[in-house]
Amino acid sequence: MSYDIALLPGDGIGIEVIDATLPLLEDAADLGGFSVETTRYEWGSERYLEEGSMMPEDAIETLEGYDAILLGAVGHPDIPDHLTLRGMMLPIRKAFDQQVCKRPSVLFDGIESPLRGYEGGDIDLVVFRENTEGEYSDAGGHEHRGYPHEVAVQTAIYTRQGTEAIVRAAFEEATAREGHLTNVTKSNAQAHGMVFWDEIVEEVAAEYPEVTVERLLVDAASMDLVRRPDEFDVLVASNLFGDILTDIGAIVSGSMGLAPSANINVEGHSPSMFEPVHGSAPDITGEGIANPLATVLSISMLYEHLGEDAVAAALWDVVADQLSDEDAPRTPDLGGDAGTKEVVSDLRRRL
Ligand code: ATP
Ligand code: MG
Repeated sequence: MSYDIALLPGDGIGIEVIDATLPLLEDAADLGGFSVETTRYEWGSERYLEEGSMMPEDAIETLEGYDAILLGAVGHPDIPDHLTLRGMMLPIRKAFDQQVCKRPSVLFDGIESPLRGYEGGDIDLVVFRENTEGEYSDAGGHEHRGYPHEVAVQTAIYTRQGTEAIVRAAFEEATAREGHLTNVTKSNAQAHGMVFWDEIVEEVAAEYPEVTVERLLVDAASMDLVRRPDEFDVLVASNLFGDILTDIGAIVSGSMGLAPSANINVEGHSPSMFEPVHGSAPDITGEGIANPLATVLSISMLYEHLGEDAVAAALWDVVADQLSDEDAPRTPDLGGDAGTKEVVSDLRRRL
C-alpha cells in the first residue's frame, strides 16, 4: 500500500512543525508496513507578498489526486487574516467539500488544565464543526457593504445537505464512542437558520435512538465548556459557533499547541485535510520552540482517516506516553525548555 500526501507547510510555525514532524510521518508508515510519498508545496503568505496570491490558479487541480493533505498554518502579520484564510484554507475546504471539521479536545495525563480541579484524563470531547457554509458562506453576491449608507450585510446559509452531513457525522461518532451528543444552537435568536438546524438534528436523532441528545444555546455551551468540560462527549455546531468553541476546547486542554483537527470529505471523492488548530504564531516564529504535538496528533487523524488505525493509535499513544513522562522534553508552552526538534526526536525514539 502506498499513499500520496500533499504537504502545505504554509507560514510561520506552520513550516516549522511540518518540517519537524515529517520524519515521524515516515517512521509511522514504516511501522505500519506501507509507504508514503510526500510532495511539498510552498504556498502561503510569502508567495502572496511576492506574487499577489497565496496559491497558484491550478492549486485545486494539483491537490485533487492526493490521498490526503497535511497543512501547517497560514497567517502573516502584514496581511489581514481574512485574506490569508480566504486565499488558501477556505477555498481548499470548499473545493473538496470538506464539510466536516473534527476537533478533539483531550486533557492528557501530565498536562495541567488552566481550569482548577481538572486532571489528565478528565476532559475527552470532540467538536464536529460544520465547515463549508453557515455563517462563513459566500452567499453568491448577497454580502455587501451598503453605499452610501453605513450598512453591511453578511448572510448565513444552511443547506439540508450540508447540515445533514455534519449532524450525521457527529451522530456516527457518538455511536462509535457509545457516548452522548450536544447540539449547540441559537434558535431562540436566529429564527430561520438555527431553527432549521435544530429540526435536522431532531430528524437525524430519530435514526440513532441509542444516542442521548442534549440541546444547548451557544452562550450556555461556552460557559459550560469552562464550568464542566468533563461532562461533554460529542458536540455538533455551526461553522462560526464551532470555530469559537474549539478554541475554548483547545485551551482548556492545556495549550493551543496540543489541538489537532481534520477537515473531512465524507464521501471520499476528494482529499481530506489535516492541520493543527493553532495559527502561524508570528510571536514565536524562528525560535524553534513551536509545539509539534498538535501536528503529530493531526497526522494520527490523517492515518485514521486512511484506515491505518493501528498506526494512528500508535502515534496518539506516543504523544500520551511522552506527556505523562515528567522527564520527557517539553516546549515552553507546556512549561518546558525544549525545542521543537528535541520533542520530535524523543517521540521517534518512543515510537
Ligand atoms: P494566526 O494569525 O495564524 O492565527 P496567531 O498568532 O493568532 O496566528 P494562534 O494559533 O491563534 O496564532 O495562537 C495564539 C498564540 O498561542 C500564539 O501567538 C503563540 O504564542 C501560541 N501558540 C500557538 N500555537 C503554538 C504552538 N504550536 N506552540 C507554542 N505556542 C503556540
Ligand atoms: Mg489566531
